[in-house]
Amino acid sequence: MQHTLFDLAPYTSPAPKVLFDENGVEETKLDRYRKEQKSDRLKKTQEQIEKLDRDQQQKLLSWLSDRLSSGAGDGEIIYRQEYSKCGKARCKTCEQGEGHGPYWYSYQKINGRLKKKYIGKKSPQG
Ligand SMILES: [Zn+2]
Repeated sequence: MQHTLFDLAPYTSPAPKVLFDENGVEETKLDRYRKEQKSDRLKKTQEQIEKLDRDQQQKLLSWLSDRLSSGAGDGEIIYRQEYSKCGKARCKTCEQGEGHGPYWYSYQKINGRLKKKYIGKKSPQG
């Protein structure tokens, strides 16, 4: 576990305080601290976004949706199953359903560009 100053319990109260989140699940002080940091960052970002004009917000939206649909940070590989259409005129599989598959694909971001690779029917995890 990563240690921050926040982890250090004060000498006067050595017993750790048990906190509960909104779902009644136990959470540590550090969990709560991180959660608060996160919602604080989100709030600040939303305030910034509100200052943008419609055009800028639209650009931001398409940037964000690109980013989210790629789903991967640089170097990280994600795997997903997809159906694909073969493009043949009278293919029953494509006409009646989502297409052929599902087949596994890997996505990896390299230098900010998303690379898609066909893997096959078998899961990459074996
Ligand atoms: Zn087909």
